[in-house]
Formats: sequence, C-alpha cells, structure tokens
Amino acid sequence: MRILLVEDDSMIGKAVQQGLKAAGFTVDWTRSGQTVLASLAETSYNLVLLDLGLPAVNGLDLLKNLRASGNHIPVMIVTARDAVPDRIAGLDAGADDYVLKPFDLDELIARIRSLLRRHAGSGAPILECGALTLDPAGHIVKLRGEPVDLSAREFMILEALMRKPGAVLSRMDLEAAVYSGATKIESNVIEVHLHNLRRKIGADLVRNIRGVGYRIAEG
Ligand code: CA
Repeated sequence: MRILLVEDDSMIGKAVQQGLKAAGFTVDWTRSGQTVLASLAETSYNLVLLDLGLPAVNGLDLLKNLRASGNHIPVMIVTARDAVPDRIAGLDAGADDYVLKPFDLDELIARIRSLLRRHAGSGAPILECGALTLDPAGHIVKLRGEPVDLSAREFMILEALMRKPGAVLSRMDLEAAVYSGATKIESNVIEVHLHNLRRKIGADLVRNIRGVGYRIAEG
C-alpha cells in the first residue's frame, strides 16, 4: 500500500512518515501541494494524507481539483483542532475522513487502515474484459489474475475503455476521461500513455482502430 503524504511541517511529516513505514506502508512525502496532482498522475497511490494548511497551495482547492478531474482516490485530510469550518469544507470537497492535529500516530494508522478497507469493499463493481479485471475502488488491475502496475493516467484510460466494451473511443474521448477541461496538455500525451498501457497489458487487448481511436478487445 502506497501513501502520498502532503505535509509542510518537517517534524510532523517525519514522524508520520516513520510511523507509517513502520506499520508497513510505502510513503512518499511532499512538503508542497504544487506537485501533488503530478505525483498522482505519475504514480499509483492507495491513499493521500493531506494537510489542509499548506503554504503555497490551498489544500481544499487541491482536493476540489482532484475530485473534479474524476480521481476518487481515498483522501484523509489533516486539520487543526480548532478549524471546524475547514473540516466541514474538506468533507464537502470530497475528503473521505479527517484527523485533527495533534493526533495520535496509532489512531492515525488505524483510521487509514479502516479507510482503505472501506474503500476496497465499497461495492463498486469490478470491471471485466476477458483476462483483464479492473477494480475502480481498489485501483487494482489484474491480467490473468496477476496485478499490473499502471500509472494513474494509464489506469484512467483503461477504465474509460473498459466501461464501454466494444465502443471505439477517440483520442478526444480519452483526453476528456483523463484530464479536466481546464488542463492544457500536449497533443501527443494520450498516445504516450496509450503506448505504455499497451506495452504493459498487450497491444492485442487495447486495439488501435486506425484513424478512429481505441477500443478494448472483448475476447
Ligand atoms: Ca501545515
């Protein structure tokens, strides 16, 4: 289980990172909110632990942008004990749970485990296409029962294709599924993700319909 820790306070960040690592989690720690969306696009995380009080970027705006982009990764927010409006706004913005500072590390770990369990069993149906399964809630892709390590973008492309078996999705359809309208992207970036996705799961499963787009193979 890989956790992205977003915390600008060195002491808290270090303690949380050490505590979570000791509990068996892989933890990437960033002090700035500015790299969070990029990190989530590059690496497949199971949970984000997000401090709302960040210096340059507002944690709430970050969370709203994340949800607006269609990313449903579990997010636990961390707020100051006296900041009740923040906590409510955070839950409204799409946080799954919150902890109040100062928090007990053991309690934090228990709450994280509980959130991950809840999320894995949230009942979102697992998508199946032949030998390929995709669990939208657990963010897990398996090919013939073996887990496949996909980036967040590759995962989103595959999910979009698997939600419409048989349909051909154009590059623009896929861009819309992966990026929010406000994001400016390079023209060939979807092709790069598709190339990597096809390399990982097999070009025969993600068919290129020349001049039209892509579709998932049903067999
Ligand atoms: Ca802070």
